Amino acid sequence: MDTGTLAAAVAAVGATGGLAAWAGAHAGRARAREAEAHARDASEELARRVASAREASAVQDLILDAMQEGVLLFDVDQDTAFANAALERHLGSRPSSIAQLYPLDVREMVRGVITASQPATVEVERSAPPRWLRVTATPAGEGAALVVVTDITESRRIEAVRRDFVANASHELKTPAASIQAAAETLRSVVDHDPDAAPRFAVQLEREALRLSRIVADLLDLSRLESGSELNERIRLDAIVREEAERYVEQAREASIELTVQTPEPVAVRGAARDLSLLVRNLIDNAIRYTAPGGAVSVSVSVSPGASGEVTLAVGDTGVGIPARDLPRVFERFYRVDRARSRETGGTGLGLAIVRHVAENHGGSVSVKSEIGNGSTFTVRLPDAGHRRSASTAEMG
Ligand code: ADP
Repeated sequence: MDTGTLAAAVAAVGATGGLAAWAGAHAGRARAREAEAHARDASEELARRVASAREASAVQDLILDAMQEGVLLFDVDQDTAFANAALERHLGSRPSSIAQLYPLDVREMVRGVITASQPATVEVERSAPPRWLRVTATPAGEGAALVVVTDITESRRIEAVRRDFVANASHELKTPAASIQAAAETLRSVVDHDPDAAPRFAVQLEREALRLSRIVADLLDLSRLESGSELNERIRLDAIVREEAERYVEQAREASIELTVQTPEPVAVRGAARDLSLLVRNLIDNAIRYTAPGGAVSVSVSVSPGASGEVTLAVGDTGVGIPARDLPRVFERFYRVDRARSRETGGTGLGLAIVRHVAENHGGSVSVKSEIGNGSTFTVRLPDAGHRRSASTAEMG
């Protein structure tokens, strides 16, 4: 007991003349202090709870705002109780109530969900910007509803590309298959009635079978490349270029095309040798096929100037060129500028799609510059894996 309390006690004893009165006053103060301490504890606890609730709600807001899906909650009065940032992005605005919800199909669906107390989903197209949205509504009790909006534009696009691809591939395979069937049937009948004509149909049979197997081989390469390339080898791209160009020396000579290869320095990239060979082969093959006799094809590989960390492979020709309007599409599967020429020269329409896949799988890109009648240059850029040694230049053809 401190001196103040003792003095108060003495005064109390003096004032009332009794110990009981002093004891009563003392107990009352103790209770008051206890109550005060309780109140302080309770208010500290409350402050802690409020802070932690604020923190939890801030975390929730953070999560909901970071979500790709739009989230929208309507309360029992059909007013908006909550909408995250993605919701506004997907729908273009934040509806204040169900009555303000657009597109109309979505509004009707949400109303139906509240009435039927059953979840439902619709897919709707928005025009500006053009997007496809999947909207799912779930009853949230007593007339409330939770709406989740997912952007499915990209998955729809991929689905459409796959559908087109299957349709195109079937069509491409159907043509040689039908020719093979027709040639085989004719061959069977001419063997008896006109044996001299037989070799002609046998040649046709062989040509179409070869075409079919080329398409199948390219399709298999494409499907393998779709699951990526193994990038664990360190590859001398200059050596691959020389090796692949060597295969075309004879073909170029026969077509009276001058084939030049320039590999002035060792160039290393990280990747898959088989896939890079395929890329180089397809570009050289095209350059020769789309160049008239007397023309030239030049292949070069070098480290890009500057500190870009890139290597460049360029395959140029003085051939037919590609019209400007077709340039953005030549890397698509089965896209051909001149269908007849592609077919005549044994094309499958898949070569440049393979080139693009290989370049992208290796963290690079491919581009083309072309002028109709003056030729084309395809340029592949790949990340440099460094380490250069002595220079060498080779001329072929
Ligand atoms: P294809 O087997 O038909 O050659 P590609 O995918 O290799 O298929 O090329 C697609 C189309 O791009 C070709 O059909 C052709 O029209 C055009 N093309 C490709 N390379 C060249 C080139 N070097 N010169 C002119 N046109 C080309």
